[in-house]
Amino acid sequence: MNQNDTYVLALDFGGTKLATAVVRVADGELFGYQKVSTPASMGAEASLSLILQTAESSLEKSLVPSDKIRGAGISFGGPVSADGSKVVLSMHVKGWDNYPLPALVSEHFHLPVRMGNDGNIAALGEWYYGSKAIPDHFMYIQISTGIGGGFILNRKLYAGQGLGAEVGHVKVRFEDADAYPCACGSYGCIESVASGWALARDAKRLFEVVSKESIFYQTAKEIGECSARTLVIAARKGDQDALSIIRSAFCSFALSLSDAITLLDMEEIVIGGGVAVNSWDLLEPILKEKIPNFLQTNLRGRTKIRLSQLNGTETLLGAAKLLDI
Ligand SMILES: [Zn+2]
Repeated sequence: MNQNDTYVLALDFGGTKLATAVVRVADGELFGYQKVSTPASMGAEASLSLILQTAESSLEKSLVPSDKIRGAGISFGGPVSADGSKVVLSMHVKGWDNYPLPALVSEHFHLPVRMGNDGNIAALGEWYYGSKAIPDHFMYIQISTGIGGGFILNRKLYAGQGLGAEVGHVKVRFEDADAYPCACGSYGCIESVASGWALARDAKRLFEVVSKESIFYQTAKEIGECSARTLVIAARKGDQDALSIIRSAFCSFALSLSDAITLLDMEEIVIGGGVAVNSWDLLEPILKEKIPNFLQTNLRGRTKIRLSQLNGTETLLGAAKLLDI
């Protein structure tokens, strides 16, 4: 079959949303894109019918003939077994333990199906479709509700025994007053400091103690929320408390990136996710200032760091690419 004319059905099942599309493998163009929210209470069985229904709608809307679709790729927002055949568990939704999602999707669509963890899959999509010159050694990290990502080493997706590449759960704090509990069951992880949920926690605490005249308080009232976004907007307007929280979180993020560079000497790191995209004007200068200082002299300036340009489609693209690896 001509590679320019093959397509893959891609499914991205996360903690809050489900996206599906038919992806043209040659250039990563998406057809029949669908996005729906996934209620937090939804277990595996109810989710499966939503997944199948949304994927069917993508197939129909894409207008791609079924004989050109050579398989389906699934990105799952949680750990999956090393062979990709089962979900290990969902950290956000109950009832997923050992669920054989790929086999059930395969049975329904009569297609070969592969599945992987969302961080690794997004890394694969960003590596293959997001970089002009596809680098040999690459890291993707996203700051959204949580922090996740993955590595491509020697042009192969790397996840150790299957659960590796947990870039959101490297430690940046230890047993002191600043070491917060993390969603993973440990504490002091970069996710517990710089993710969307961690910044929302800090924003809510700040809201309780600041004066009603402060820029932060006024911003929270104005936009009607106390979140990472509130901190970022207030920091831009010059609120010193918000700036100090954002600076501390992003300096910690720079620390975790420099540790990854020290260990793996990647050619490129791409940063994605809603929190990073919406605060890049604050994040980028801190990375530029801090990372060189955190690195030994001969490692400085070797790793290109940039913001993802794929507008959140990297996970669907990675799910499509999963069939080739
Ligand atoms: Zn953690």
